[in-house]
Amino acid sequence: MITRSPDLLQSVIPTVANDARDWQTQLAQAIRDPRELVARLGLDNHWLPGANQGHALFEVRVPEAYLARMRPNDPQDPLLRQVLPVTAETDSVVGFVSDPLEEAVHTPRRGLIHKYHGRVLLIASPTCAINCRYCFRRHFPYAENSPSRAQWEETLTYLRRDPSIQEAILSGGDPLASSDKRLAWLVERLGEIPHLRRLRIHTRLPVVIPDRVDDALLAWLQATRLQTVMVLHINHPNEIDAAVVDACTRLRGAGVTLLNQSVLLRGVNDDVETLAALSERLFSAGVLPYYLHVLDPVAGAAHFDVPDSEALTLVDELRTRLAGFLLPRLVREVPGEASKTPL
Ligand SMILES: *Cc1c(COP(=O)(O)O)cnc(C)c1O
Ligand code: SF4
Repeated sequence: MITRSPDLLQSVIPTVANDARDWQTQLAQAIRDPRELVARLGLDNHWLPGANQGHALFEVRVPEAYLARMRPNDPQDPLLRQVLPVTAETDSVVGFVSDPLEEAVHTPRRGLIHKYHGRVLLIASPTCAINCRYCFRRHFPYAENSPSRAQWEETLTYLRRDPSIQEAILSGGDPLASSDKRLAWLVERLGEIPHLRRLRIHTRLPVVIPDRVDDALLAWLQATRLQTVMVLHINHPNEIDAAVVDACTRLRGAGVTLLNQSVLLRGVNDDVETLAALSERLFSAGVLPYYLHVLDPVAGAAHFDVPDSEALTLVDELRTRLAGFLLPRLVREVPGEASKTPL
């Protein structure tokens, strides 16, 4: 594929949009069968029982564009580890629970989480393009949190009535799994609320299906008067290929500020070399590292856990390696606290 400048993109996009591989098709064709995942990567069949067990708890979902960045025949591939279910997910480990962030008690309206001053998190889509095994929402009752247009009206009323809210954060699931029609409608309504200044979007879609960043998406991003911030979610430098860099370039061309949050994961990015390379690669793509989260203690993910002492040592070492602005903030989410908590 040819690398295009953002200006050229405008004229090229119509042919791309007719391609059978538009983002909706790629999303619909994502791998959802553990057997297929194991087979496609050439893994030994002994991975299959674990994959099936984990899949029964939280289904497999991996888009082709993400799969293509994995090394075949390598069960330890850092991208594969994020999506391949394993037997350890069935372990019950003390302290690892189904709703570690106690979000259920902070949901005053369907699809709305207001925990921090000045910003509100909106569950804009119940699904994701990829299912990350460590996800703290792996047990989240998405079906109850997928608002209809009438429910959105309730959420909008809540936002209108609270002038302390300056920022609306679209989250999920993955908000960009929603159609541009729905998102454009919502963002237009949000823009009409005078005290709102910023729109923030927490998404992994431009990473796992870079073609998601198409003209329709850029159109509503550019149309809003709100300042727009996109917080991507990338855990390993191998996730950033040329298509991801292109997608970031298009987003920045639309005036979007790009940040990244990662989760510190055992066997994926729990070493200084990987974290340093990640920060460097992010910045090359025009993305600033924002948060490095320690794992939320969600049931089924204990095998990804990195102890606090080790996390602190890693970040101390990272600090001696990187420019200050390339160092992500190491944080944890403590239920009931008014912000993320630095370690
Ligand atoms: C993480 C989070 C935010 C955003 O926090 P920042 O520190 O501003 O990035 C907002 N609301 C909820 C419920 C969150 O979990
Ligand atoms: S994309 Fe985000 S919300 Fe979705 S499964 Fe992965 S970590 Fe969870």
